[in-house]
Amino acid sequence: MAVAMTEHGLFINGESVEPASGELRDVPEPATGEVLARAAMGGEADIDRAVEAARAALDGAWGKTPGTERSRLLHALADAITANRKELAELESRNVGKAISSVKAEVAGATENFRYYASAIATIAGRSNPIGNSLLFYSQKEPVGVAGQIVPWNYPLLMATWKLAPALAAGCAVVLKPDPQTPLSVLRIAELAAEVGFPPGVINIVPGDGPTTGAYLVKHPGVDKVAFTGSTKTGGEVMRLCSDPIKRLTLELGGKSPNLLFADANLADAIPASVWAIFASAGQSCEARSRLLVEKSLYDDVVAQVTELSKQVKVGDPLDAETQMGSLISPSHRAKVHGFVDGARAEGAEITTGGAIGDGPGAFYPPTVIANAGNQMVAAQEEIFGPVVTVIPFEDEADAIRIANDVKYGLMATVWTGDPARGHRIASKIKSGTVGINMPYTAFPGIPFGGYKQSGFGRELALETLDLYLETKSVVTYTGSRPTNPFGL
Ligand code: NAD
Repeated sequence: MAVAMTEHGLFINGESVEPASGELRDVPEPATGEVLARAAMGGEADIDRAVEAARAALDGAWGKTPGTERSRLLHALADAITANRKELAELESRNVGKAISSVKAEVAGATENFRYYASAIATIAGRSNPIGNSLLFYSQKEPVGVAGQIVPWNYPLLMATWKLAPALAAGCAVVLKPDPQTPLSVLRIAELAAEVGFPPGVINIVPGDGPTTGAYLVKHPGVDKVAFTGSTKTGGEVMRLCSDPIKRLTLELGGKSPNLLFADANLADAIPASVWAIFASAGQSCEARSRLLVEKSLYDDVVAQVTELSKQVKVGDPLDAETQMGSLISPSHRAKVHGFVDGARAEGAEITTGGAIGDGPGAFYPPTVIANAGNQMVAAQEEIFGPVVTVIPFEDEADAIRIANDVKYGLMATVWTGDPARGHRIASKIKSGTVGINMPYTAFPGIPFGGYKQSGFGRELALETLDLYLETKSVVTYTGSRPTNPFGL
């Protein structure tokens, strides 16, 4: 049964539907503390229904839809997102508490991602090798089947589109579970997808709690492949769940990314970019450069400049075009972030700016700089996932590389140096999925994005992502007379 307009249903089999439990939950607006909307929360019966719809789509028309038509649909969805970008950006900004200027770039990135995979479909192809004699072999690519996708709250729209676009390009059908706090933008994307002609059942969106609804989706025997973005701890649990029955799996997990600042760098460029690299998205970013490693001779000067620039970051109403940093996702997350800062204080670090929870509504937290810090401190080892940067000195290049790699994560790193050879030398030695040299930005369609070590495995945003949603089938035969096999048959 369809639900009223002001409330958001689950999106299953091409329409908005009520959950089996009837549960509607308040969706908060973190910058105001008000309720933004009410959204249906799905449970096991809804996942069953969504997986069934996805399987029916694959067994039906979607399974026969050629790449050219899938490409046209992906472009049409990109067009629809562009046409509705204002509404989507505002929805996302209010639901996540994130500055609208950042969200606009995310919506544009989502569009580009659909366009990238619309074109990348042309690369999906098998091959045929000359094997010799009269043996004929060819391989063909087939969609892996029903993909179960789970995304977090920090970039609800962007992370969902990073997962949806390659899966749809490959010809899979999807059941996607957003975080219960941030289901709105991806529900809207699913509606737009239906409007532009994606058949019912190809895209199903079931918001719900992770340990129940999410885990059920991961274990569901009708799900062939799981793609998860979230914390390393949950990623480990998802990996365990994928072992029985065995599932294909990709994991995009946490980070504690270093930003290496050498004395020969262009500091006028490097220091503001380093401030951006942590405080964009209020530090609630997997690739946030949350450890600023600084050559010792510069340390005091850099701490002073970063502190000053951090004080100037415009924090406030996410919908104000001038705002650079909005609120955090929730008061409870803010309390967790603040706990790390208090912990650093207790370990002897100095908080040169920020580090206090103000009055007033909304889950705001100021840009915070932790100085006099060592890499073994908890604040340097654990993902804080908030607007907090830990500034750590290093002696020389070897020491910088040692410290950069001395965490369990390996998602992203940035190196600032005036010596191009040093930049490339360091890039080859850093254990992370992406290294930027004098360039703070990270994620563009076409550039593989993903982790080393406990930041996960598999790459998104790239051609190789398609392979994660495809099976390779080898077909072999003889075109001449078949030789006698060892059994003489
Ligand atoms: P989280 O792990 O708590 O939750 C992520 C998603 O998993 C949510 O949808 C949640 O409902 C679901 N979930 C929770 N428990 C589950 C379970 N047992 N089984 C199945 N699903 C479950 O993470 P979060 O706090 O929402 O997100 C922040 C984390 O995501 C950070 O660690 C961040 O670095 C990471 N992240 C990584 C990338 C990347 O590309 N590597 C991108 C964005 C965010």
